[in-house]
Amino acid sequence: MSSLEQMYQQVIMDHARQGHGRGLVELDLPATGESHQVNTTCGDEVTLRVGLSGDTVESVSWEGQGCSISQASISVLAEIVEGESLATADEAYEAFRALMQSKGVPLDDEREDLLGDATAFVGVGKYPARIKCALLGWAALRDALIQARAAQASEAQGGPA
Ligand code: ZN
Repeated sequence: MSSLEQMYQQVIMDHARQGHGRGLVELDLPATGESHQVNTTCGDEVTLRVGLSGDTVESVSWEGQGCSISQASISVLAEIVEGESLATADEAYEAFRALMQSKGVPLDDEREDLLGDATAFVGVGKYPARIKCALLGWAALRDALIQARAAQASEAQGGPA
């Protein structure tokens, strides 16, 4: 294993242990969304909650269980996306998907900057069985953001029809 791979493995283990954003937060925001996702092939699970304030992803919190890769990936995405704009969250989602499809080849500098610690998952792209683990939290994020945006749109029109 190269020293870079060792460093990446350490980043993943640290995030799996720290679990940034772990513990669902009760939100007093009109635009919230929540998503429960399961990766049956590995047994990973996550419930992820987001809250929007205008175009800003104000809060990302979650509960989950499963392998280190799945849990670390959720921790990383919470760290990247919380406090950022919806546009940045979408870009990060697309960049992480591209990273998983790159078969272990690093992305360009711009997307690596955007992904930060998430670039440590580059090696996962070489193992198709683990890609689902790494994408679990991101799938939950995308789904939760869609719901939050729908709630926001409904709010703007004066509540649900
Ligand atoms: Zn897993």
